[in-house]
Amino acid sequence: MGIIVQKFGGTSVADFERIRNVAKRIAKIFDQGNDVVVVLSAMAGVTDSLIDMANQVTLSPDKRELDVLLATGEQTTAALLAMTLQSMGYPAKSILGYQAEIITNRNYGGARIIEIGAGRIKEFIEKRNIVVMAGFQGCDPEGNITTLGRGGSDTSAVAITAALNADKCEIFTDVDGIYTADPNICKKARKLSAISYDEMLEISGLGAKVLQIRSVEFAKKYNVPVHVRSSFSEEEGTMVVKEDSDMERLVVSGITLNKDAARITLKKVSDQPGVAAKIFLPIADAKILVDMIIQNTRAQGLTDLTFTVSKKDFRTALEIEKQVAEKIGAEKVFGDENIAKVSITGVGMRSHSGVASKMFAALSGENINILMISTSEIRISCIIEEKYAELAVRTLHNAFGLDKDEN
Ligand code: ASP
Ligand code: MG
Repeated sequence: MGIIVQKFGGTSVADFERIRNVAKRIAKIFDQGNDVVVVLSAMAGVTDSLIDMANQVTLSPDKRELDVLLATGEQTTAALLAMTLQSMGYPAKSILGYQAEIITNRNYGGARIIEIGAGRIKEFIEKRNIVVMAGFQGCDPEGNITTLGRGGSDTSAVAITAALNADKCEIFTDVDGIYTADPNICKKARKLSAISYDEMLEISGLGAKVLQIRSVEFAKKYNVPVHVRSSFSEEEGTMVVKEDSDMERLVVSGITLNKDAARITLKKVSDQPGVAAKIFLPIADAKILVDMIIQNTRAQGLTDLTFTVSKKDFRTALEIEKQVAEKIGAEKVFGDENIAKVSITGVGMRSHSGVASKMFAALSGENINILMISTSEIRISCIIEEKYAELAVRTLHNAFGLDKDEN
C-alpha cells in the first residue's frame, strides 16, 4: 500500500452527483488501505465565468487580484469533496495551495512551481486522512496567491506526486486515454497503452488539451509515470512514461490535426540581414505567436517569406504585414485562412529513415498538396488545405499501420 495521487478535472466534478461519484471512487481506493491525495480542478466552466466576472468589473484586471479570484474555483470543489467524503463517513481534509506550501515564482496567471513543502499534507496522511488539495494554485515566496495557467491542476498533481514520492499519479478526465488519432475523425483510431514523455510533449504542443504541457515537462524531469484515464469508467487509460519503458514499438504513434492555423506570405522581400527581424518584431509586439516560418530564395537577391499564426490573429497579423511590406519594399502580401496542420509523431523516427517520404507519398496518393513542412526530431507537420484535413488524418493513420483492424 502506498500513496496514490488522483486528479479529477472540471467535467469530473461538474455537479454534485459527479462529486459524489468521485468520492465513492476515492473511498474504494482508501478502503483498500492506500493513502490518497486528491487534486481537483474547478467545476467545468467556473474558471471561465470567474474571468468573465473580472472583466465585468474592469477591462484590465490586476493580475494579483485575478489570481485571488480564480483560485476560488478550486477552493470550492476541494471543500465540497471533503464534505462529501465526510458525509459518507470518511476522514477528509481539504488543503489549499499555500497551505500545501506550493511555492511558485511571481508570474501571476502562469506561475511556475519552485518548491513544495507539503508538511501539512504529510501530517494529514499520517493521521489517515484523505487529503483533498485544490489544484491550479500556489503562492509566491511573499505569500501572494498565484495560479499555474489554464489546465494547471494537472501540474499540481504531478508536482505533488514527485514531492511526496507517491506511488501513482492518476489523471482522471473526460477522455479515456491517448488515442492514435481523434476517434471523432478517424473511426479506426485506437487507444495507446503507453506513450513517452517526449511524444506527449509534442502532441500537447500541437494543441491536444488532455494534459497541460507543463505537467508533462514536470513528469519527465522527475520521472513520474502518469496514468491518464476516464473518470466515468474503470477501464485502464494510457500511461505516460519514460521512453524505454514497456511501450509498443511504433515508428509513428499518432496523427494530430490542428485547424487553428492561417498563413501569411510576403512576396519578393529583399534578401538582406535584418529583414526577417523587421517582419517579425511588430508581430511579437502585438503578442502574436508565430508557429511555422519558411523562407525560400528566388533570383536577384529576393526571397519569399511565409509564416503561420492562429486563426484569431490572422486579420491583425495581415494588417501589420501590409504596413511592413510597404516599409521594406516587399512586392505583395497575401494570406490564407483555410489551412490546417496535420502532424505525425513518434519516437521511432529517431531510428527509422523514410518516415517523411512515406508521409508525403501517402498525402500525394490522395492528391493532397503540401503547402509547408516543419519537423522536430520526433514529429513531422504539414500544412495542407483545410478541406482535406480529415482525409489527411485517415490516410496517414492507415499509411502508418495504425488502423485498428490491422493489429
Ligand atoms: N480550473 C483551471 C482551468 O480551467 C485549472 C484546471 O482545470 O486545471 O484552467
Ligand atoms: Mg484539464
